[in-house]
Amino acid sequence: MTLRSDESFWSPQVRQLVPYVPGEQPKIPHLVKLNTNENPYPPSPRVVQAIAAAAQQGLQLYPDPESTALREAVAAHHGLDAAQVFVGNGSDEVLAHAFFAFFRQDRPLLMPDISYSFYQVYCALYEIRCEPVPLDAALRIDVAAYARPAGGVVVANPNAPTGVGLPLAAIEQLLRLHPRQVVLVDEAYVDFGGDSAIGLIGRHPNLLVVHTLSKSRSLAGLRVGVACGQPHLIEALARVKNSFNSYPLDRLAQAGAVAAYEDRAYFDETRRAVMHSREGLALALEDLGFEVLPSQANFVFARHPRHDAAALAAALRERGVLVRHFRQPARIAQFLRISVGTPAQCEALVQALGPLVAQAG
Ligand code: PMP
Repeated sequence: MTLRSDESFWSPQVRQLVPYVPGEQPKIPHLVKLNTNENPYPPSPRVVQAIAAAAQQGLQLYPDPESTALREAVAAHHGLDAAQVFVGNGSDEVLAHAFFAFFRQDRPLLMPDISYSFYQVYCALYEIRCEPVPLDAALRIDVAAYARPAGGVVVANPNAPTGVGLPLAAIEQLLRLHPRQVVLVDEAYVDFGGDSAIGLIGRHPNLLVVHTLSKSRSLAGLRVGVACGQPHLIEALARVKNSFNSYPLDRLAQAGAVAAYEDRAYFDETRRAVMHSREGLALALEDLGFEVLPSQANFVFARHPRHDAAALAAALRERGVLVRHFRQPARIAQFLRISVGTPAQCEALVQALGPLVAQAG
């Protein structure tokens, strides 16, 4: 039988969705994988123990639909109340529910024109009109340009894929510019040196802060994301999640995530190691002639004035080193986004890049 796809059955919204190409997760062993911003260190041993214990008892039972223990652990970590915490299967799910809950407005959703690509996907899926606001000449979020009518605002801080962070004063400015609209701050990378807006939640009923355990807590494989905000925002997210009948976190994820929040020492140790390697990596890239944007994330965004970024990424791939290159938008097409690996992985990248950039560009 020939397998054919007849897209005429599809809704217009689905027809405009770009198919997922799993090229960034190749199934080849022994790669130096610096392309998807995973943490190079394993999760805390306490996480693994907690998951093993949860697997031994209770898997025949459904999980706690409200993830109470986890929401309490997140709240304790941030000095919040559990009623100010929502959890989902990865921050991608949390973001999807937040877009549905808050941004289907008459007025457009403002977001940086260069940011996490899934924001545009959720807008397409939920028919949210979005208005991209250009980054400034240094690829920073230009907060003054957000002073225009809006149905909401979403920014990543630090931004992706640039790694450039905004100071808290700039986030407060966004909150004051749009006091009656939700301002969503996606802090996926904030633990690597950024300024978290969580402390502003008490004063700003329009602030929703989204976190993930995929980066600073080394749990990309477990799929846990978090949103923090005042209870009226959390209640809306819970209603959307329940209405989609989407699953609560499973028992293993709930148990592992609680342990990840409890092991504060391991969290601090690994994120400091990543930040330390990032500084070394940035210097080594600069020695090779790259311009490196100031990063507050677990990746660096860099371009070489004499070498084509797509060609460099392809040549690195042939040498078993994966980095990320974006063909679009044109303004960033000469950059490479390189996740911070272990010292050995960073060294392997620099060793592979050296001869490539020594050649005439
Ligand atoms: N936000 C940003 C800015 C990201 O870069 C990512 C993942 N790359 C996510 C959210 C989603 O992370 P996850 O679904 O693994 O929590």
